[in-house]
Amino acid sequence: MTKDDFKYFVDQFEDMRVLRYKLPGFESLTLQQKKIIYYLSQAALSGRDILWDQNFRFNIEIRKTIEAILEFYPGDKTSDEYKTFLIYAKRMLFANGIHHHYSNDKLKPGFSRSYFAKLIKEIDKNNLTLTNGQTVDELISFLSPIIFDEKLFGRKVEQRAGADIVAESAINLYEDVNQKEVEAFYAGKIDPNDPHPISPGLNSKVAKKNGKVAEEVYRSGGLYGTAIDQIIMWLEKALIVAESDIRKEEIRLLIDFYRTGDLKIWDDFNMFWARDNDSEVDYINGFIETYSDPLGLKATWESVVDYIDTEATKRTRIITANAQWFEDNSPIQPQYKKEKVTGVAAKVINIAMLGGDCYPVSPLGINLPNANWIRKEIGSKSVTLANISDAYEITSQGNGFLEEFASDQAEVDRIKQYGSLSDALHTDLHECVGHASGRLRDGTDPNALKNYASPLEEARADLFALYYIMDPKMIELGLLPDEDAAKASYDTYLRNGLLTQIVRIKPGKDIEEAHMRNRSAIAHWVYEKGKAENVVEIFKIEEKSYVRINNYSRLRILFGELLKEIQRVKSEGDYEEGKRITENYGVKVDPHLHAEILSRYENLNLAPYTGFVNPMLLPVYNTDGEITDVKVEYVDDYLGQMLDYGRNYSFL
Ligand code: ZN
Repeated sequence: MTKDDFKYFVDQFEDMRVLRYKLPGFESLTLQQKKIIYYLSQAALSGRDILWDQNFRFNIEIRKTIEAILEFYPGDKTSDEYKTFLIYAKRMLFANGIHHHYSNDKLKPGFSRSYFAKLIKEIDKNNLTLTNGQTVDELISFLSPIIFDEKLFGRKVEQRAGADIVAESAINLYEDVNQKEVEAFYAGKIDPNDPHPISPGLNSKVAKKNGKVAEEVYRSGGLYGTAIDQIIMWLEKALIVAESDIRKEEIRLLIDFYRTGDLKIWDDFNMFWARDNDSEVDYINGFIETYSDPLGLKATWESVVDYIDTEATKRTRIITANAQWFEDNSPIQPQYKKEKVTGVAAKVINIAMLGGDCYPVSPLGINLPNANWIRKEIGSKSVTLANISDAYEITSQGNGFLEEFASDQAEVDRIKQYGSLSDALHTDLHECVGHASGRLRDGTDPNALKNYASPLEEARADLFALYYIMDPKMIELGLLPDEDAAKASYDTYLRNGLLTQIVRIKPGKDIEEAHMRNRSAIAHWVYEKGKAENVVEIFKIEEKSYVRINNYSRLRILFGELLKEIQRVKSEGDYEEGKRITENYGVKVDPHLHAEILSRYENLNLAPYTGFVNPMLLPVYNTDGEITDVKVEYVDDYLGQMLDYGRNYSFL
């Protein structure tokens, strides 16, 4: 069990909760490492407004008004109406805008239009941001429909079949253009014969200017130039303290990219970044992920700064060093094994700062760069975020969830003792050797599995991890203390796949997300195959369903059998069988069970979405103005941090 007095919990409002994360071992980093972390962290915070504006074009204006109310409203802050306003404000700040970060629906304010007007009117006018001679009344009548009309800008990203997914999405990556116009604009921008294609449109907005469709590029002197200049300023400081020549070259390229907006330079930067495997401090910073663009072209701005978790990385090194042993002993057919397998050099890191689209909701793992040809020719970096996972894991241990759904006290104890370790090891096996294992039969089309490719690929990597975590080799390599730790991993996997993961699905809906389909498919497949021998049992006590594993070693063999079959499906491109496994075991939800699980979950009063406050990194200066140390101060005031960022990092 992780003995830990650190206070993780910070705040909870409706479906969102906020935690803190810890920076283990930060004090023992070198001064140079602390300095570069500090400068890169300032760069990470400086791009905040870019994301806010990308999410929706009136987000910053709305946020400034809400911030003014939070700071300067002189009236009663204890009334119920003010409290509902406060919840709205917290949720909007969490979502980086007025649309829910996950569902994409516009957030519903719980207070009235007239109350909103009253709040604004009672503030000293000088504390409001009024643009172009706008009066207070004009500000109110401008913002009110945007906040209160459910239909107006109702969805951040609209993917509904038949919709114009560009024109009907509120996201500000496009303006006054429709899907056809954007597709026409980008048609022919990629040369299919170019082995090193750029990602066209990645760092720009497309809008109509004087009736013509045009790109506005994000760069110094261009769109978002004032915020980008701040990022550049901090990157220049980081450049001075960079630890290696490769790191220096890489930061220089990133600065050049921000100055020019040239996507060739972005690729050059990424090639250096992907090669830079030795630096103990690392970061991402740029226009990277395209999830928020309905067309998948344009990236939102994001950044993290991190440093290596030396202890945990020892674990992934042991796994990678034994990659060939795992491949040789795997239960898949010999012709689909790799003769020479090199595990992926996954690192375990600790986050030191989250920014842009990674704040406050953090990723749990990072696998970049995205350009396929760079991944192939240079490689990629795969990292898991130890301190963020720990915060999730430790806070989930006192919240009643485990006690509600575990089948008995022995299981609860096992998870409390080994849950963190076995989860981490599962992830490492999945990432370092699972995805890297196996090969295609000659002539198999790598895209043969089409829409079933991702859940099946995730299943393959999960099954590899599940099969090996119960292997005596784990104890021999010193990765697990005993077999009970592996049992904890099986308990969690089956409980999640058969019961609890559907708390994230709305009643009447199917499972759609690839990882969730994979977990459901594996759990239901082994449940069915082991039914005659009662390997895994689903039973009820007082109308509540539970899962119990009666035979762990038999279950391991079933995982091995399914791994063999899914590897065959992938190697041979057997679309029909891949579809059958996914559709039969991974997609459907039993409505009675679903209703039961949802109501048990609701009674626990937990928030499904988690965000984090960042620590403050405070440089210590000597009399010559040089940094002599960087101190970590943990923050436990969520709203305070948001207001602080609004005051100090608002550059648009
Ligand atoms: Zn995976």
